[in-house]
Amino acid sequence: MPEFYELLIRGGRVILPWGVEETDIGIAGGRIAALGVGGAASAAETIVARGLVVLPGLIDPHVHLRDPGDRSVESIPTGTRAAVLGGLAAVFDMPNTTPPLTDSGQLAWKQAYAERSAWCDIGLYVGATKTNIASLAVLETGRGVCAIKVFAGSSTGELLVEDDASLERVMRAGSRRIAYHSEDEYRLRARRAFFHAGEPYRRHMEWRDEETAFLGTRRLMALARQTGRPAHILHVSTAEELSFLKSHKDIATVEVLVNHLTQAAPEAYDTLGGYAVMNPPIRDRRHLEAAWAAVADGTVDTVGSDHAPHSRAAKERPWPDCAAGLTGVQTIVPVMLDQVNAGRLSLSRLADLMCAGPARVYGVRCKGRIAAGYDADFTIVDLDHRRRVEESWLASPCGWSPFTSAMLKGWPIMTIVRGNVVMREDEVLGEPRGKLVSFA
Ligand SMILES: [Zn+2]
Repeated sequence: MPEFYELLIRGGRVILPWGVEETDIGIAGGRIAALGVGGAASAAETIVARGLVVLPGLIDPHVHLRDPGDRSVESIPTGTRAAVLGGLAAVFDMPNTTPPLTDSGQLAWKQAYAERSAWCDIGLYVGATKTNIASLAVLETGRGVCAIKVFAGSSTGELLVEDDASLERVMRAGSRRIAYHSEDEYRLRARRAFFHAGEPYRRHMEWRDEETAFLGTRRLMALARQTGRPAHILHVSTAEELSFLKSHKDIATVEVLVNHLTQAAPEAYDTLGGYAVMNPPIRDRRHLEAAWAAVADGTVDTVGSDHAPHSRAAKERPWPDCAAGLTGVQTIVPVMLDQVNAGRLSLSRLADLMCAGPARVYGVRCKGRIAAGYDADFTIVDLDHRRRVEESWLASPCGWSPFTSAMLKGWPIMTIVRGNVVMREDEVLGEPRGKLVSFA
């Protein structure tokens, strides 16, 4: 009996969890129904992926879509549109919005709003504060909640839990893995006085130095060990932390950012000025090489963009009033594909870092691999396509990227979310059909 599918993807080089195979994928009901579909099968729609690579739908587990906030900078509709244009099937959105997502009322609003306005699937972080600790255990089980986010060092917005006693109370509330911004707030404050307004932008990495990050991570890991609470250390930026975290893999998972893998001081500050300022900072090449070594040896679980848009005016203010944070949700996939072409990592490792890794760290249901029964999410890429990053391509209203004018090799051609082709060759298709990601 000939099989019939809603969608068939034929002839692509498919990145499976067990290896790379040329195989045909049959999709029904938004799920992967079969691999190795025979030639007699038919479908409502067939995608011929000959010469292309079929990756599992890639996930950016670290974005700030600023919604609610300033829509002239970013919002969920614009940021998720950028995501699908850039080849992402899902994003996990940070809570330091205006107002922040820290209670059940805000969560209910965002759950409903995201499901009518997002172009890709979306997970939601809930922010911890010193006053919502009693409700975190319930909030972390909310629909679409990927994790509790703790800012242990201050960045954009007002969310901050900096002292050990409060951090321990957060860790003792609930049980899922907590995601941390790890910089030591006391050291940040103490060192601030050594620096002066109007100094070069590279002073940012001297103020927020290696020890600021490492001390923050040592403190968090001591508390995590004491409480037994699993930790995900976001945007690890130093060789010292990466080395230290290797001996904590039983309770800690590790994120590095695409910026820390591809941008180094002092060049980044010299060429980009305020458009190189982020937290934790871009550092010298020693740390970049350590980040790649940690990708190679498996210390790193996930790679994110930390897409954190600000207006051009805010980025162009003199240091230290220049807003910290860089855009990246639309460029993370092409930048990482360029690194694949440069020989820094394999396609299988990319799929691990940007799909299986986030799924494992955050406990995603039915995403993370191309396998029967999983969501039919795919990022189809042309690994040979060379293209320059143009501002005119960017969907975020803030309109800039630290990668503008970079020439990259490897580009996403198609984004498929639960069987829906949502982006094909720069065109966003249909209506926003993003759903909240399901977590165990
Ligand atoms: Zn962030």
